[in-house]
Amino acid sequence: MIRQAKGKTPRRPPPKKPSNTQKDPVGVYCRVRPLGADDEECCIEVISNTTIQLHAPDGLKANRNGEFKETQYSFKKVFGIKTTQRELFEDVAKPLVEDLIHCKNGLLFTYGVTGSGKTHTMTGSPGQGGLLPRSLDMIFNSIGPYQAKRYVFKPDDKNGMEVQNQVDALLDRQKRDSQTTVPKTPTTRRIDPEFADMISPEEACKADGVDEDSSYSVFVSYIEIYNNYIYDLLEETPFDPIKPKWNGAGTPLRNNTEFIPPQSKILREDQNHNMYVAGCTEVEVKSTEEAFEVFWRGQKKRRIANTQLNRESSRSHSVFIIKLAQAPLDADGDNVLQDKNQVNVSQLCLVDLAGSERTSRTRAEGSRLREAGNINQSLMTLRTCIEVLRENQMCGTNKMVPYRDSKVTHLFKNYFDGEGKVRMVVCVNPKADDYEETLLVMRFAEMTQEVEVARPVDRPICGFAAGRRQRNQAFKEELTRRLEERGGPVDGESPTVLNQLLQSFPPLPPCEISGPNDDVTLPRLIEALEKRHKIRQMMIDEYNKTGNMLKSVLQEQDSNILSKENFIQEQRGKLGEKDKMIQNQKNEIDRLEKKSKMLEYKIDILQKTTNIYEEDKRSLQQELESREQRLQREVSEKRRMEARMQGIVTDAKLKWEKECERRVNAKQLEMQNKLWVKDEKLKQLKAIVTEGKAENRQPQRPSREKDKVPAKRSASPSPVPTGPPVRPLHRRSHSAGGERWVDHKPTTNVDLDTVLQPNIPNAIKVNAPNEKALSKCDKYLLTHQEVASDGEIQTKLIKGEVFKTRGGGQSVQFTDIETLKQENPVVASRKRRSSENGPDGEPVESDWTDVETRCSVAVEMRAGSNLGPGYQHHGYPKRRKP
Ligand code: ADP
Ligand code: MG
Repeated sequence: MIRQAKGKTPRRPPPKKPSNTQKDPVGVYCRVRPLGADDEECCIEVISNTTIQLHAPDGLKANRNGEFKETQYSFKKVFGIKTTQRELFEDVAKPLVEDLIHCKNGLLFTYGVTGSGKTHTMTGSPGQGGLLPRSLDMIFNSIGPYQAKRYVFKPDDKNGMEVQNQVDALLDRQKRDSQTTVPKTPTTRRIDPEFADMISPEEACKADGVDEDSSYSVFVSYIEIYNNYIYDLLEETPFDPIKPKWNGAGTPLRNNTEFIPPQSKILREDQNHNMYVAGCTEVEVKSTEEAFEVFWRGQKKRRIANTQLNRESSRSHSVFIIKLAQAPLDADGDNVLQDKNQVNVSQLCLVDLAGSERTSRTRAEGSRLREAGNINQSLMTLRTCIEVLRENQMCGTNKMVPYRDSKVTHLFKNYFDGEGKVRMVVCVNPKADDYEETLLVMRFAEMTQEVEVARPVDRPICGFAAGRRQRNQAFKEELTRRLEERGGPVDGESPTVLNQLLQSFPPLPPCEISGPNDDVTLPRLIEALEKRHKIRQMMIDEYNKTGNMLKSVLQEQDSNILSKENFIQEQRGKLGEKDKMIQNQKNEIDRLEKKSKMLEYKIDILQKTTNIYEEDKRSLQQELESREQRLQREVSEKRRMEARMQGIVTDAKLKWEKECERRVNAKQLEMQNKLWVKDEKLKQLKAIVTEGKAENRQPQRPSREKDKVPAKRSASPSPVPTGPPVRPLHRRSHSAGGERWVDHKPTTNVDLDTVLQPNIPNAIKVNAPNEKALSKCDKYLLTHQEVASDGEIQTKLIKGEVFKTRGGGQSVQFTDIETLKQENPVVASRKRRSSENGPDGEPVESDWTDVETRCSVAVEMRAGSNLGPGYQHHGYPKRRKP
């Protein structure tokens, strides 16, 4: 809103700079015009009321390897080819006009390629008024009855507006009437047929909520921006009698020399930082027709200038500015308040931009090319500005927007920088020829939609009581009515107020002068008239007094009403606050309800989870109980087992004790055997030494042996060798019945209960070998027991042959060892495994060699045998002793 200079008045708060942070995006609409000819190729399809789809024309697709696909663009609304001007107006311009009437600024521009329908949309065609005539019509339909008299509002040349006093305004009106030749009333005026039927009366629109207590006035300006120069299209060029530019009808003179090119205008910034065209004509218009006529005048001027200067109209921007001045009526509701601070001026800019196509598309040459370049430059600047604005808003940057780079953008600066509503109608021609240009238009449109503009704030109320105009009117009507009641119709027969008043005066004396000497009539008449005059004076005084009284009463009531309205306003404010509070609380309740629902849901879930867990717990408890019972059982079982084991252990202990004893005995036996072998050796040596001397003497067992161990070992194996075996040995001749064995079983041997026991028939069983038994037999068998590595007792059957020695004694040569081994199947496998190697991995040296040693001393190896028969017999590694 363009505000007047700020000043403080006690009646109303000073106008504030817009402090609102609310922003609205630029409203971008798209209008698709019908194809020029039916056989033209089409590249646009309206697919919804917000989206259009572009598809590349066939030729283009082929050129670019089909790289162009269908592209969709969305807008606030898309208007198809069947859209009427009225429909478009309702959606696009009506809200802007409503804003204008409510003191808010608006900017509406059409953008598109030449021939896409920008002018058709903005201005319209005969019978189809565009947005501009419709906007004007709506303004006058809305404010018509509340318009101020001409020249009450007067532009101050600094983009501001003054309120003239009644007299000055009247004088200005009289001046205008004397100058102008056109008839005053529009009804009688000849309407240009070019725009006569732009809008039909039934399509008339009207804004709601027009403030009746304000007075309005509309001013229009019309400028053209061409080649980055601003031209005032409404400027009244002073009539030059020598070089007339225009004839009376507004048609140009054909002669080029008579044409004075218009002077360009400059842009200025007013004290409120709004841009305006300095010195631009602002024509006050009082009706749609008048406004449109002014517009048409400008339009014609534009056309003439273009023809005269050989310019292309599609390359210029035209800007039609509608300014609406409004000021509150004074307290009486009679006149516009004479206070510049109370004047509000809002404006609506209707812009028909130049064709957006690139220069190459026009057949521009020479100076035309320069112009075209500039036109393009200004649209380019518009694009850049929009781009920078968008970037600043989206990325929070603060880049300078280059408004000043072109006149168009510079003029629009306030809309984007300040506040207002900005709308753009993107016009498109669906023909395939325009495809590439249209694509660029779409991209610009898309970008523009992302720019936001501060929403205009509401106008503060002026502080006077509302309904002043109506009251004033009612008062006037009432006064006339009363006057009429008293005096009757002024020109009628019936008595009027005036007549009654006249009758109440003292009657006039006869005023006919009787003669030249009549000096009574006149003085009497004078007296009567003086009386009347006095009465009149009194009545006037009375009237004035009453009037004043009435006025003061009215003023009092006005102030009463004012205070009441203030009170109401206050209450409304409070109510608003309360409403807000209620709303907040409602929101809070909603939030809490949502939260509570959420929590309930959570509780529900938790309940379910708890149930599951409880069930789990129950089943686990049951399992626990059953396990405990089992454990109990197992414990008692274990106890029983323990008791049994105790028994077994005691048994085993006893057994092992016995076993140990047995082993000790076996060891002792073995040692004794060793001792015996040594003794034997000694004896044999002795015998060899003493053979010659005492051939018949028999070797005696050492008395020590006989004395010491007879209890345990009644007879040790006694091969009874009487001398070293000599070869060839002559064997004892065998008896007819076969071999005869000496079965030598030492008494220390333990009965092993084994099944495989040597059973030799005809054998002579001895506990200790003796000469007598040996002499009768030719074979000898010693049953020797020793403890094996697994702790078992191993029985070895040591076989030998009995030979006669040269000294007449007997000698035994051991030839073979049979080993009988008893195995415990339970421990066997485990023991075998662990007994393969010793703890250090080395095969353990066994003690079997002890027997071998013992035997080998007395035995002769068989011829051809490297090893003793014992070795062959025990071909596997010996087991370790436990
Ligand atoms: P621009 O101003 O974009 O160069 P115009 O408004 O002059 O284009 O339109 C070119 C032609 O197309 C005009 O004859 C106009 O009457 C016609 N035209 C444009 N839009 C429409 C429409 N929506 N319906 C019918 N005719 C249209
Ligand atoms: Mg045009």
